Amino acid sequence: MQKTITVIPGDGIGQEVVAASLSVLKTVAKKFYHTFEYKHALAGGAALDAIGIPLPDETLKHCKESDAVLLGAVGGPKWDSNPQHLKPERALLGLRKELGLYANIRPAKIYSALVDASALKKEIVDGVDIIVVRELTGGIYFGKPSGFEKRNGEEVGFNTMIYSESEVRRIAQAAFEIARKRKKKICSIDKANILETSQLWRKVVIETAKDFPDIELSHMYVDNCSMQLIRNPKQFDVIVTENMFGDILSDEAAMLTGSIGMLASASLGGTVAMYEPVHGSAPDIAGQNKANPIATIASVAMMLRYSFDLQTEADVIENAIEKVLNAGYRTGDIYTEGTTLLGTKEMAQKISESLQ
Ligand code: NAD
Repeated sequence: MQKTITVIPGDGIGQEVVAASLSVLKTVAKKFYHTFEYKHALAGGAALDAIGIPLPDETLKHCKESDAVLLGAVGGPKWDSNPQHLKPERALLGLRKELGLYANIRPAKIYSALVDASALKKEIVDGVDIIVVRELTGGIYFGKPSGFEKRNGEEVGFNTMIYSESEVRRIAQAAFEIARKRKKKICSIDKANILETSQLWRKVVIETAKDFPDIELSHMYVDNCSMQLIRNPKQFDVIVTENMFGDILSDEAAMLTGSIGMLASASLGGTVAMYEPVHGSAPDIAGQNKANPIATIASVAMMLRYSFDLQTEADVIENAIEKVLNAGYRTGDIYTEGTTLLGTKEMAQKISESLQ
């Protein structure tokens, strides 16, 4: 298989974790006889420093012309006092908008070697493997009108929660497709007992389900879901939900698993999908070979699975991560006594060796 990947390391540890994950991807390419062409591009602080804007047109052009985008992280104290339109984080919003990325996919998977890193009891979290599919471009974060005004002599703030049928249908379809590649089970989260947007959401999800008769669909109110994720997370496989509920629930689900350095993500929707770790640029450890590269390596596995349909290759990476953790290798964020501490590069190297 021949594919072109736009690589945007970004800032801080973004540079290190992306380099580490590419070393693993190169090993996979060699092992399975694939040819991946990498186009390096600038975004965030690195682009501000080079040409004065956070998301250069050239970067967008590369992204649109490639088969997938791999991003590290953007941001850092150097640019914190920049005006809003010149903040590194603007690059992320620009990429999501320009690439039409309306579906955010966040796995929350417990590695059994790290089960003690969870705040919950071992028997509750051992074996948890959830994917939260969050609608990313609609709902209350984008609905108009929004703003502040004076009403009855006092200031009020207001937002609009709005969804159209087509917005719900496309995210539901994306989630059902993912469920089809997993345990064929999906739980749609809403607040249909109160909100009209949720009533529409539920109606459209039920209609969409007719095209996926092999998938078992259930519904849950968002308040109950937030409790069930703590009480019995193993009941979930794929969760699909709207933007704000997904924002909160995906962070809650992610924290079942321990460190932020382990969390991968994918943003799908348009013709080109973007893959990135959940964490930021971690200025406190940047440039020290201390960052955990596993979140980015797991994001690369998602790229192989979702953009290139290379299931075996994705499994091979995920199994290699598991093996290395089982063998007791750790970066600083997941280190415990009795395990072996590795740097960013060395962790990637162990994972590469393990998948060969
Ligand atoms: P952060 O995720 O960068 O760091 C939070 C904490 O987690 C830090 O202590 C850091 O050392 C640790 N950490 C993060 N990733 C790690 C890894 N892979 N291995 C080991 N430890 C890790 O969040 P922050 O400190 O709030 O933000 C720092 C900068 O990153 C800010 O400029 C912020 O805007 C930006 N940011 C960018 C993204 C993105 O690019 N998607 C996401 C979040 C934050």
